[in-house]
Amino acid sequence: MSLTVAIVGRPNVGKSTLFNRLIRKRLAIVDDTPGVTRDRRYGEAHLGDLTFTVIDTAGLEEGIDDSLEGRMRQQTHAAIAAADVTLMVFDARAGITPMDEHFARIVRKAKRPVILIANKAEGRAGLDAAREGFSLGLGTPLPLSAEHGEGLGDLYDALEPFA
Ligand code: GDP
Ligand code: MG
Repeated sequence: MSLTVAIVGRPNVGKSTLFNRLIRKRLAIVDDTPGVTRDRRYGEAHLGDLTFTVIDTAGLEEGIDDSLEGRMRQQTHAAIAAADVTLMVFDARAGITPMDEHFARIVRKAKRPVILIANKAEGRAGLDAAREGFSLGLGTPLPLSAEHGEGLGDLYDALEPFA
């Protein structure tokens, strides 16, 4: 049985940066073409001795239309349903926003395994900010910096039991 991991959360928290780090490709190579909507991207991720399928949820940034809200919820549901475990990402520097709470509600309702990721948590300020994520009701936030590659050992430890 192979492991599948979904990355969900509001736009701009660093989901694609984490996806790209896990599949070990540069952002520029796999970044979405502007204006092209691809709601989910699949990649083969490597983390230590773990190999798994990772799903990046996107397509929220391109163009606001009246179906945006429904599309966001639908693609988040679909990614969670396809995955063994979900990484719910928030921005530790921005703090918790109403949109984070909205996504957290979707994740909680799915009643599937979830790891809460406090991204952009590089440095001391980030670690302090990560604690705010407790309020999302999804357990202890795992501080990470997708951009700087910090916290990946702890992410490995959190994912390893699902492999
Ligand atoms: P997405 O919309 O959730 O996929 O977010 P992106 O991966 O596109 O990242 C949004 C912005 O956050 C980009 O400018 C990234 O460079 C930045 N970013 C992503 N990860 C980190 C991180 O760990 N630390 C900091 N400081 N910035 C980050
Ligand atoms: Mg993205």
